[in-house]
Amino acid sequence: MKTIEQIAAELQGYDPQALTAQQVNEFLARLVEPLRETETETVGIFDALGRVLAEDVISPISVPPHDNSAMDGFAFAGAALGNAPLSLRNVGTAFAGKAWAGTVRPGECLKIMTGAIMPTGLDTVVPVEFVKIDGDTVTIPPGVVKPGDNRRLLGEDLMAGNAALRCGQTLGPAALGLVASLGLPSVRVFRRAKVAYFSTGDEILSLGEAPREGAVYDSNRYTVFGLLTRMGVEVIDMGVIPDEPAQLEAAFRSAAARADAIITSGGVSMGEADHTKAMMRQLGDVAFWRIAMRPGRPMAVGRIQEAGKSSVLFGLPGNPVAVMVTFLAFVRPALQRLMGAEVQAPVLLQAKSGEAMRKKPGRTEYQRGTVVREADGSLVARTTGNQGSGVLSSMVQANGLIVLRHDQGNVAVGDTVEVMLFDGVI
Ligand code: AMP
Ligand code: MG
Repeated sequence: MKTIEQIAAELQGYDPQALTAQQVNEFLARLVEPLRETETETVGIFDALGRVLAEDVISPISVPPHDNSAMDGFAFAGAALGNAPLSLRNVGTAFAGKAWAGTVRPGECLKIMTGAIMPTGLDTVVPVEFVKIDGDTVTIPPGVVKPGDNRRLLGEDLMAGNAALRCGQTLGPAALGLVASLGLPSVRVFRRAKVAYFSTGDEILSLGEAPREGAVYDSNRYTVFGLLTRMGVEVIDMGVIPDEPAQLEAAFRSAAARADAIITSGGVSMGEADHTKAMMRQLGDVAFWRIAMRPGRPMAVGRIQEAGKSSVLFGLPGNPVAVMVTFLAFVRPALQRLMGAEVQAPVLLQAKSGEAMRKKPGRTEYQRGTVVREADGSLVARTTGNQGSGVLSSMVQANGLIVLRHDQGNVAVGDTVEVMLFDGVI
């Protein structure tokens, strides 16, 4: 396991006082170690949603298991098709679920239902709506089908012996169905990652406490809970810890003993005269950064060892929007890595800016935005008013973050901007 100093020495142009967002992710990819192959469990499909596969799933069978019809119609040998109408004698009906017993000879066809096995020698299905039927004579007009049409091939979805899903895949609804289609009742997944969270700061009130001058209710605890729960990790909620060395020490030690990762908010900015940073420094191997981004400039990152194990520490800033932005930009990919999952860079949407935005090159900015489709079909992004890093309502109103890249300057109306959509993430 590398120390903070060793990782820093590996990174080009590492300056803890002016890191780019990209450098932060590169650093975290070196710091965070995935769960080991041994840290797995076998779970039934209903319990596997959102879990991460710990091994490749190899198909024990082919899906579909036979060539079969994709339509209700008539199966025949496509080689007989030409430029003239083709008349064939219908010799029976094949239903889905059981093989048709007879033989279909040249000049003959077989009525077939969707999903029914294609009898040997037949490779084409003409849909019922394209043919003329007269008694047991079926006439196919020229040009309505080509040889091979409307037949699903054995194994065209999954072939026996091939990997149907790869280790590191996060199982979504489609993957659950895919596992079931192979006849497999369960999958081997990594154990759930455990993430402990607490809020810090003397001015932070827990719910239920009476309001007092200068104090604010703890909102970060709930946004972080939501963000973590959406990721499928086991959340260890540790509440609000006041700025008092003994309580901070106990909280960090308990979190490190129990969790794979610790997230805190508050107390990491430059001017802080509190004990949070001092305790992180005392208990762990921790770097204190200023990141070239807005919101979310200060952040602490490192490891804390306790009870013979090591936990990754993410000391997020205190401002509610900064917490969410740094989580999405850095913590989320780092936790995906920890969970054994393939890290999924968000797919950014391109939209036209509906307004001018001031932007200084040299930092990444995450503006809360709404993307709407205009009458002419184009996607237009606008900011949600006040972009203060404490204005949590801007996150609620927004449907995504407008990501203004590090080198980008001012944005004019109509310029293309990139948007990280919240859909499914937060
Ligand atoms: P800090 O990073 O500790 O300087 O905090 C920055 C700002 O975020 C201050 O105005 C804090 O009151 C506010 N803040 C810190 N923690 C929380 C929290 N858990 N919930 C809501 N606001 C917070
Ligand atoms: Mg503070």
